[in-house]
Amino acid sequence: MIYLDYAATAPVPRSVADAMYEVLAGQYGNPSSQYSLGTEMKKRVEGWRAAVAAAMGCPAERLFFTSCGTEGDNWSLRAAAWQNRHLGRHIVTTAVEHSAVLETCRQLEQEGYEITRLEPDQDGRITAAQVLEAVRPDTAAVSIMLVNNELGTIYPIEEIAWGLPARNPKTLLHTDAVQGFTAFSAKDLGADLVSVSAHKIGGPKGVGAVYVGPRLRNPRPLLAGGGQEGGLRSGTEATAQIAGFAKAAQLRMERLESDRAWLAELRAYAQERLLAIADMVPVGRGTAPHILAVSLAGWPSQNIVNDLGSQGICISAGSACHQGKPSHVVAALKLPKRTAAGVIRLSFGPETTRADVDACAGALRRHHDSRLPML
Ligand code: PLP
Repeated sequence: MIYLDYAATAPVPRSVADAMYEVLAGQYGNPSSQYSLGTEMKKRVEGWRAAVAAAMGCPAERLFFTSCGTEGDNWSLRAAAWQNRHLGRHIVTTAVEHSAVLETCRQLEQEGYEITRLEPDQDGRITAAQVLEAVRPDTAAVSIMLVNNELGTIYPIEEIAWGLPARNPKTLLHTDAVQGFTAFSAKDLGADLVSVSAHKIGGPKGVGAVYVGPRLRNPRPLLAGGGQEGGLRSGTEATAQIAGFAKAAQLRMERLESDRAWLAELRAYAQERLLAIADMVPVGRGTAPHILAVSLAGWPSQNIVNDLGSQGICISAGSACHQGKPSHVVAALKLPKRTAAGVIRLSFGPETTRADVDACAGALRRHHDSRLPML
């Protein structure tokens, strides 16, 4: 199998699975228990918290484990809206966020919030000035992703964080950094809330984390109960998941620079190979090294994905989270119909090889040559 869909999820390295197995098999204590099996586990959870916090560039005491990136996005928006409930009911976001943010905004809209959804240009870009101009005296929160999962566009979070106090010193800034992890430091980004997910970096599914910055005073707990996670997210800690998350984060940090260099090289190589195919055009101007969006203009993307899938080559038609529905991200680019119809995403990880890219490019060329365009 040739896997080119790392933005959907990543394979779990053996050492991550081993770290999880060790906990599942032998270290089954509940961190809240008072005997040594529990107190030892509590210490280990704090060690894993420190490891993930180091990868996120934030203090461990401000990092809280969640069950996934979606949960972190939901919680962040709700926490920011709650803190600023007396300030106003306006939220600024973009039309190209992950549905975890967009759907939470839709819920908030039903509860009386006004949502400004900023539109990108045809290249997928949204500027800091565009975001800052949309901020008003009643803006409770701004939520802008760090890296777009379909286009690889990097949004200027640092610049937004820098300019925000002049527009409204109380507005809180959230960034969904799921696709940017581990290539940033929460401290440098300057956002008040940063959400990430383990399974995009070779950790297990079902665990994520949120950095909650000091401007969040008495944040509203996500789940009420036994008081775990500093009382903010009750529920017995998913110890094996957290152990795997920490191990994956450590592995990524150890190889951060070499992985980034390899991904950038691979992406440039893939771009060159793919754009040599007739009717293949670039989509967006994303610069994240692990995501490449292109379009086989006129060839419906779902057919391409199915054809390649039948040959054991995994790529995606936009985001895996859309389950075959047209992507709101592609729609927001307002591309010509034939281009929009053929958008595919290749995404890479440290294990991806040039041979994987060659196999994919070959299959795409055959797909192009053997079928008439449908549009
Ligand atoms: N945000 C972005 C940008 C994503 O790409 C994803 C997953 O695809 C999520 C949030 C959701 O993360 P999770 O699958 O952990 O809920």
